[in-house]
Amino acid sequence: MAQRAAVADGGNKKTSRVRVAVRLRPYVGKQDERSEGPCVKGLDAQNLEIINWRNATETVKYHFDVYHDEQTTQQEVFLSSVKPILPHILSGQNASVFAYGPTGAGKTHTMLGSSEQPGVIPRAVREVFNLVKAKDEDEGWDYSIGMSYLEIYNEKVLDLLSLSSQDLPIREDRDKNILIPGLTHTTISSFSEFDKHFVPASLNRTTASTKLNERSSRSHAILLIKVVRTQRAFPHRQQTGKLYLVDLAGSEDNRRTGNRGIRLKESGAINLSLFTLSKVVDSLNSGTAVRVPYRDSKLTRLLQDSLGGSAHSLMITNIAPEYKYYFDTFSALNFAAKSKLIVNKPFTRETVAVPVLPVKRAREDHEAGRSGTEPQKKKQKDEKKTEQDGSSPSAHYHSLSEPSVMDRLIALEKLMMSCQDKDRTSMLKDVAQSRKEIQELKEKQKEFESKTLLLSQLAGEKHGTKQEPAFRNNTAPLHRKPSNATKPNKQQAVVQPLQVSQLQPLQQLAVVKKQSVCVKRKQLPDQVELPGGKENIMETNWESQLDTSVLDQSRQKILQVLNTGALKELKGLQQIGDKKAKLILGWREIHGHFTKLEDLVKVEGMSEKRFSTFMKANILSVMGK
Ligand code: ADP
Ligand code: MG
Repeated sequence: MAQRAAVADGGNKKTSRVRVAVRLRPYVGKQDERSEGPCVKGLDAQNLEIINWRNATETVKYHFDVYHDEQTTQQEVFLSSVKPILPHILSGQNASVFAYGPTGAGKTHTMLGSSEQPGVIPRAVREVFNLVKAKDEDEGWDYSIGMSYLEIYNEKVLDLLSLSSQDLPIREDRDKNILIPGLTHTTISSFSEFDKHFVPASLNRTTASTKLNERSSRSHAILLIKVVRTQRAFPHRQQTGKLYLVDLAGSEDNRRTGNRGIRLKESGAINLSLFTLSKVVDSLNSGTAVRVPYRDSKLTRLLQDSLGGSAHSLMITNIAPEYKYYFDTFSALNFAAKSKLIVNKPFTRETVAVPVLPVKRAREDHEAGRSGTEPQKKKQKDEKKTEQDGSSPSAHYHSLSEPSVMDRLIALEKLMMSCQDKDRTSMLKDVAQSRKEIQELKEKQKEFESKTLLLSQLAGEKHGTKQEPAFRNNTAPLHRKPSNATKPNKQQAVVQPLQVSQLQPLQQLAVVKKQSVCVKRKQLPDQVELPGGKENIMETNWESQLDTSVLDQSRQKILQVLNTGALKELKGLQQIGDKKAKLILGWREIHGHFTKLEDLVKVEGMSEKRFSTFMKANILSVMGK
C-alpha cells in the first residue's frame, strides 16, 4: 500500500502570491466601434493605461506581472505564463490558472481557444503528458494522470462528466486536501483520450441550458488535471499534484448591464464566488490578511489547496478594447492590479490634426508673406496617412469630437449606474444618440479634410508658391477644447480635443511657427467670444494692455486649476470661496471639464459681471506670482 506524502500546505504558513497577467484581445466588434479607438493602451510588457472616468483629463496607469497586448498569440500566452508552472504538478504541488474578465473579453478563447488557435487547456494537458513521458525511468516513480470536469453555477457544484449530476459537497481531508466526494475522476493515458472526455463534456455544459450564453457567462467551468506519482520501491510514497484550469464567470456588473430575468438577489448569489475570489486574491497578494476567506464561496473553497499557500497560481485578466466595455475593463483592472497610478495626461488627446478651412489659411499665409515649409508638409502628410489607414489604433484614430462625447458617455454611464430600470432605456437612447453624433462628426471631418486638401492645392497654384496645406493650430470649424493637462511636446503634434456642439464663427487666430507646435496668437480667441456688454469691453481693454503670450499662459493656469484643482486649490483662486468652489466641483462632476474660462458663467451664481471681476483678479494674481 502506498504511503501518502503530505505535501499540502496545511502547516505551511508561507503563502505565495497570485501572479496576474492581463491580456487585451483584438477588436472583434463592428467597424464603427473600432474607429472610436481603444479605451485602453498598453505601455510596455507590464504596464497599461486607461482614461480615468472620474476625470477625463487623466489616465490611470496599472502595473501587472505581465501585460499581453492584442497581438499576443495563444502560444506566447502559454509559453510565458503557464508552461513554467506545470513541472510542479509532477512533484506533488498544486497549481491553478484562471481566466477572469467580462463576458466577451476572451476568457474562453484564452482557456479553450479553437482548433486553429488552441488555448491554455489543450496546451497544458499536452505538456503534462510530455513532461510525464520525459521523466526518467530511473528516477523510480510511476505516474498516472486523471481528470475531472465540473461547473459551479448558482453556488452549486455540478459534475460535467456525469449527466445526472446533483449539487456535490466539498470536503477537506485531514491533510487539508480539498475533495469532492462523488465527482467523476477519469484516468487518461493520452491527449486524445483527454479530448474524448473533455469535448462532449464541454458541449454538455453549453447545451444543458436553454439560455446557453447566460449560463456559460454565469458559471465557472473548472477542469482538474491530477497527476499522482508513486514510488516503485518501498515505502511506495505517493504524491498528488493538482492543476485547476478555470474559465470563470463573466465579471460584468449585472446591475449595470441591466440583465433582465436575473433578480438582484440571484445575480448576487451567482457572483458570490467571483466576489469572494477577489477578496481571496486581494488578501493573498496584500499579504496582510489574518484570514483568507476561502470558505465564503464554493469556488474559493474548492481552490483552497491550489490557490495561494504553496500553490502556483496565475490569473489571466481578459479585457476588450471597445468603449462599450469601458466600465467592465476599468473594474477588471482594478481587481487585478498590483498597483495603479493616476497620471495627469490623457492618452486620447494624441489625436489627429484639426481640419481648417483652407481659404482663410491661404489668405493668412498670403498676408504674412510666408509659404509652408517642407517639414510641415511632410508632417501633415504622415499624419493624414495614419489617420486614414488607421494603422495605429492606439493613438491616432480619434474623432474630432471624441473627448467631449466621451465625457458625455461617461457621465451618462455614471448616471445609469445609479438609476432605475425605467430611466435606463432613455439613457441608453442618449448613449446611442451620442454615438450617432460621433459618427456624423467623423463624416463631416472627412469631408472637411478632403475639401481642405483640394482647396489648399488650389490656393497654392493660385499664389504660385509652395503653399502649406491648411493645418493644425489654425481656425477650427468647431469649438476648440483646451486640454490644460497636456503639455505641448515639441516633436509631437499636440492637438487639443474639440467639443461636439457650439459651432463657432470662423476666426483666424494663430499661425504655426516653423516646425514647432508653439502657437503665437495674433488676437485673443477667448476674448472674441466673451459675452457682450460693458464688462467685456472693460475686460478686453485691460487685457489688451498685457503681453498676449503671458496673458495666454495665465489663462491656461487658471483653467487648469478650475479643471483639476481640488477644493483647497479652487479656494486659492481669487473671488472663489467655499461655496463657489463646491459649485465648481459639482459642475465638473456633471459636465466634465471647462472647455474655456468663459464656461465658468455656466456655474450657478457666476454672473458675467462676477466672471469679469474673477478674471481680472486672477490674471493679475497669477501674473504677479
Ligand atoms: P468570454 O469567454 O470572455 O466571454 P470569448 O473567449 O468568447 O469571451 O471571446 C469573445 C470573442 O472574441 C470570441 O469570438 C473570440 O473568438 C474572440 N476573441 C477573444 N480573444 C481573442 C484573441 N486574443 N484573438 C482573437 N479573437 C479573440
Ligand atoms: Mg466564455
